[in-house]
Amino acid sequence: MTELSPLDAAGVDAAVAEALAAFAAASSLDELKEARLAHTGDKAALTLANRQIGGLEPAEKAAAGKAMGAARAAMGRALAARTEELEAERDARVLVEEAVDVTLPVSRQAPGARHPLETMQERMCDVFVSMGWEVAEGPEMEAEWFNFDALNFDPDHPAREMQDTFFIDPPSSGLLMRTHTSPVQVRAALERRDALENEGRGIYVVCPGKTFRTDELDATHTPVFHQIEGLAIDRGLTMAHLKGTLDHFAKSLFGPDAVTRLRPSFFPFTEPSAEMDLRCFVCGGEDPSCRTCRGTGWIEWGGCGMTHPNVLVAAGIDPEKYTAFAFGMGIERTLMFRHNVTDMRDMVEGDVRFSQQFGMEI
Ligand SMILES: [Zn+2]
Repeated sequence: MTELSPLDAAGVDAAVAEALAAFAAASSLDELKEARLAHTGDKAALTLANRQIGGLEPAEKAAAGKAMGAARAAMGRALAARTEELEAERDARVLVEEAVDVTLPVSRQAPGARHPLETMQERMCDVFVSMGWEVAEGPEMEAEWFNFDALNFDPDHPAREMQDTFFIDPPSSGLLMRTHTSPVQVRAALERRDALENEGRGIYVVCPGKTFRTDELDATHTPVFHQIEGLAIDRGLTMAHLKGTLDHFAKSLFGPDAVTRLRPSFFPFTEPSAEMDLRCFVCGGEDPSCRTCRGTGWIEWGGCGMTHPNVLVAAGIDPEKYTAFAFGMGIERTLMFRHNVTDMRDMVEGDVRFSQQFGMEI
């Protein structure tokens, strides 16, 4: 390509015409920028021609300077005009593309919500995790040995009857749907007994999960429900440690005034055994017409006791060296009295409106 001379009037006019055509053809501000750099940048023919003016004869300088000045002015006007047009187009497009139609119909699909049983279970576990306990889980379909024998149930204990327990066919399988979360205690103890024996690490676990009984679903029963149990095995544990743990648990869930009470009871897997009551957190035992405690001042919450030596033996732990306590309660029941849920069926029917009432916090 031969270099354009500033004295070549026809050449300069052609270069200007080419530049103006390129500016007009640019369909966006980006394209216009490219065209501007191509026709007015350092390497553009007109820019190079302009640089030659300094080397011209004095007589030629004036004419060349005038021609180049006119060329630059023409391109400058064209650029400014096209820039203004393209900016206006862009602004108009943004107004259309980014517009929000507030009259469009909203989605009527309800957002989901975590089930309050799940959040309650997590909250209960968190109380113990914050004390350094572990969360242990086990199978929902369980060996009869873990569910009953290891927990010191007599072979003819009524809980083993078909009318209470879902057994898995064939009966010779020795399997059932666990009737409580207690078999997890035995499994957790078996898994940790070496650390207990060799490193002196006490066993502190909570076991939340589903349990199964052959109940019909009604306002106060469900064949599938949830329990949480705790087990502590260490040297020198007593009922006082159990009571202190339960009181701390109650305060964490029901506030600083919560207190528990133990009443003598019987379970195969603990000795001594106790029913655990919670002092009514609504009336504090002061209101004979209170609906939460039915005026008794106490709410039945769960069972507990010192783990029976036979259970420790089943888990391979020496009851002469170690003692243990255990407790358990229903999560549905806790949710019912804590939130005044009166019908068990609301918890199992899966209507999201039930869960949404609890929001993110229970
Ligand atoms: Zn009350």
